[in-house]
Amino acid sequence: MHYVSTRGAAPTLDFAGVLLAGLARDGGLYVPATWPNLSAEALRALRGRPYADVAVAVMTPFMGETVSAASFRRMVIEAYAGFRHQAVAPLVQLDSDLWLMELFHGPTLAFKDVALQLVGRLFDHVLGERGERVTIVGATSGDTGSAAIEACRDRAAVDIFMLHPKGRVSDVQRRQMTTIHADNVYNLAIEGTFDDCQDLVKAMFGDVAFRDQLRLSAVNSINWARIVAQLVYYVYAAVQLGAPDRAVGFAVPSGNFGNVYAGYVASRMGVPIDRLIVASNRNDILARFFETGDMSMAPVVPTLSPSMDIQISSNFERLLFELLDRDGAAVEEALRGFRASGRLALGPNRWQAAREIFCGHRLDDAGTLDEIRRVHGATGELVDPHTAIGIAAAMAKRNSGALPTVALATAHPAKFPDAVERATGCRPALPAHLADLDRRPERYATLAPDLAAVQAFVRAHARIANP
Ligand SMILES: *Cc1c(COP(=O)(O)O)cnc(C)c1O
Repeated sequence: MHYVSTRGAAPTLDFAGVLLAGLARDGGLYVPATWPNLSAEALRALRGRPYADVAVAVMTPFMGETVSAASFRRMVIEAYAGFRHQAVAPLVQLDSDLWLMELFHGPTLAFKDVALQLVGRLFDHVLGERGERVTIVGATSGDTGSAAIEACRDRAAVDIFMLHPKGRVSDVQRRQMTTIHADNVYNLAIEGTFDDCQDLVKAMFGDVAFRDQLRLSAVNSINWARIVAQLVYYVYAAVQLGAPDRAVGFAVPSGNFGNVYAGYVASRMGVPIDRLIVASNRNDILARFFETGDMSMAPVVPTLSPSMDIQISSNFERLLFELLDRDGAAVEEALRGFRASGRLALGPNRWQAAREIFCGHRLDDAGTLDEIRRVHGATGELVDPHTAIGIAAAMAKRNSGALPTVALATAHPAKFPDAVERATGCRPALPAHLADLDRRPERYATLAPDLAAVQAFVRAHARIANP
């Protein structure tokens, strides 16, 4: 299996190459040159299989010679052994034709663990075989930093430095990061805003000498390996609900478009997916595009579902590549126009092609609170604001012909307890493994938003700079 860039002007790479590269050298994103096929027979054989078996079967065709079958199987088993539910991604029935897929049983209570727990291990394995080491730097507004740290902790070939704006992330979010005591994990509380943190990370990558000395890297949401790891649960749910003999729909709370794009990949591989419902909050550029064909930028507004407060969804480029018949030059041109004018010009035929599988739905904060309350009353389930938006989208856009629809639960309700309590009067408790979170010792360094100071810290602690 080899991979091509969505902008058509970067060298093709194998799986190990795209795993370590992240972004392609021409600024594009890597996608497989061809889609592997999951035949009806192969899907039937996955019915009733444990999650790890499905993961190995679905991911192996993407990996080529990168990892031996035995090592890969061991990594998959280790990655999901830490999940608090034996089914890893259990389905909970909400209505006769509606299911919730709980993707929040990993260590940090959000769906990102499903991919990152495996990708961290793949990263370490490939680097270890090459005798290489990297330094990962990232910025977080609170939500996603802990999943990256949990994925990298105690990995021999990786050091991770995570910047967060001091005093501007919630206590639970900060503690989920700062109570992880591993020798290769550094939390930096920056005396500034999230934008300051992001600018510092960009500046570190922009300093070529520093970047090369530290071998800077990222495990961000455009990494192809994350997409393949997410593909697994679409197949897992579909075969449980009747694939290949019955089609299934999915409703996906969306931000960077990585999660729902993995569902698109599943459909390209032959999983019968009737529709992909893209659920947005008020930052609805994606939902608006799929409903009306208009993709125009608007300022980001903060909402109760902060992981979806995004205007430019980086993974959308991968779908655009398909809509433009895999013409990299056309992708480059469309994106240049989008940056210049704030509006993506895509003819009605291309939009119609997207509409064959995608639709969109948007819900504002008041609607989100109403939906959390309604779901609790109707089913007894407490759901977080992101998940509630997915369920509302499923209710609005599901197939009325009795095909099953699966709404993806992307965060545990205890990750957003204030909104859940406001809607229902019930405050969701943290799962047992985090119950004493507010009594665990924290470890972090506080630094000014000053590039030289942050670089000096990273240089002083990264193992690659201190052999
Ligand atoms: C990251 C995240 C999302 C958005 O997923 P994308 O892959 O960026 O579309 C939705 N919900 C939660 C809770 C998240 O953490």
